[in-house]
Amino acid sequence: MRDVRTTNGEHEAAVARLREAYAAAPPGTPVRLAKRTSNLFRFREASGGPGPVLLDVSAFGHVLSVDPVTRTARVGGMTTYEDLCDATLPHQLMPLVVPQLKTITLGGAVTGLGIESTSLRSGMPHESVTEMEILTGDGRVVRATPGNEHADLFRGFPNSYGTLGYSLSLTIELEPVRPYVHLRHFPFETAEACMEAISQIAAEGSYQGHRADFVDGTAFGPGELYLTVGAFSDVAPWRSDYTGQQIYYQSVRRDREDFLTIRDYLWRWDTDWFWCSRPFGVQKPMVRRFWPRRYRRSDVYRKLVALDRTYNLSGRVDARRHLPAREAVIQDVEIPVERGADFLRFFQEDVGMSPVWMCPLRLRGERSWPLYPLQPGEVYVNFGFWGTVPLPAGLNGPADGYYNRLIEDQVAKLGGHKSLYSESFYAEDEFYERYNGEAYRALKHAYDGEGRLLGLYEKCVRGR
Ligand SMILES: Cc1cc2nc3c(=O)[nH]c(=O)nc-3n(C[C@H](O)[C@H](O)[C@H](O)COP(=O)(O)OP(=O)(O)OC[C@H]3O[C@@H](n4cnc5c(N)ncnc54)[C@H](O)[C@@H]3O)c2cc1C
Repeated sequence: MRDVRTTNGEHEAAVARLREAYAAAPPGTPVRLAKRTSNLFRFREASGGPGPVLLDVSAFGHVLSVDPVTRTARVGGMTTYEDLCDATLPHQLMPLVVPQLKTITLGGAVTGLGIESTSLRSGMPHESVTEMEILTGDGRVVRATPGNEHADLFRGFPNSYGTLGYSLSLTIELEPVRPYVHLRHFPFETAEACMEAISQIAAEGSYQGHRADFVDGTAFGPGELYLTVGAFSDVAPWRSDYTGQQIYYQSVRRDREDFLTIRDYLWRWDTDWFWCSRPFGVQKPMVRRFWPRRYRRSDVYRKLVALDRTYNLSGRVDARRHLPAREAVIQDVEIPVERGADFLRFFQEDVGMSPVWMCPLRLRGERSWPLYPLQPGEVYVNFGFWGTVPLPAGLNGPADGYYNRLIEDQVAKLGGHKSLYSESFYAEDEFYERYNGEAYRALKHAYDGEGRLLGLYEKCVRGR
């Protein structure tokens, strides 16, 4: 296992070095994080301008401390959830929300909004942060808490995507775990029935007598949807293993009940990147047998996709075969549960991609977060879909965003929101109307007055 710990002294020294490196970057030069991994789905094209200054943030990829008594951890901002959980699970503790992909980092999930199957119970990752140490765009290092002089930055950090500053360390709450998770997969024949079940779970905390410590679901088509409800368990009459030949998302259709260790549960989607390992052939038994286990991971597949995007390999193969160009439709959107069935109907008729991941969520606290205004108390369903769709004849090409624009319009009509980790096509006015431009501009002025970091629109829509 990798060494996931660091000391306070090493951390303080790394903060001082980073601050100096940032101050030394020539004004007007773009600044970027030099990170080993990313889960963003915006692949930058070369801008033609000066190359960016890369900030070495490798020193912030460690856990500083885990306190089993207060059930808190202090964690470097670039620490992956895989390393974070390796540090907390030996204490029978885990972060309140653990995004499913191993290399998502705590800082990335807080600034870019994470979600997982505990989100109906525990909200989003930023809601269990109690303190953040942030290198701001104007070069200060500040400590932001919900109640101090930087409370506005604390509340505006989620959904700012590193455009106000970078979190160097975060203190988070942890919750106790049991050794196993007992999963039950409930089938539904209509989206309406599935959304009603989610509302019922949100109200009662269980479904058909099974405690809902975890809830997510998979829609394979209009008449085939499943909700997976997980309860912590001290015992496991049997244990499944989806890191080998078996594939988790396929088991949901087949089995009604399952047991996983807590660690295998947390990473159940990572081995096959939900179902997105399919185009690489990894789900074919012959290929799977020879594909090394250590490479059955979401970060490996993402690197393969990045290569494909860079060299347009699959685009060229399609063109040679005279197949229509395809548009990447990789998005997560949040829709109020009452309109969830409408969204699925639209998606199946107008986009036609499956499966779709469904993950219910509700803010944990009473207050909303200015840059991603979900309503406290309201139940939403996150729909995640990641793939490509053939474009209708006569369209110019994938860059037009034909399907992505349809989705943006529909999400707005249904009172929902769209995550910004992937491509977006909003006009600037509309974008800042949806993502609280007024609050954002005030924060940008206060913490990055000279605009050393990109603005939110430039970064998330123009993809600079
Ligand atoms: C197929 C797919 C499925 C996904 N599924 C899920 C899911 O199930 N659950 C979920 O929670 N998320 C999911 N995501 C989204 C993912 O959580 C976000 O993309 C998240 O922002 C990625 O974080 P990262 O740590 O990999 O950061 P990066 O990809 O490295 O960076 C993301 C952005 O955050 C900024 N950033 C990174 N670290 C920091 C920091 N410490 N301080 C300030 N800014 C920082 C970067 O500048 C960048 O703009 C999914 C994405 C994809 C492509």
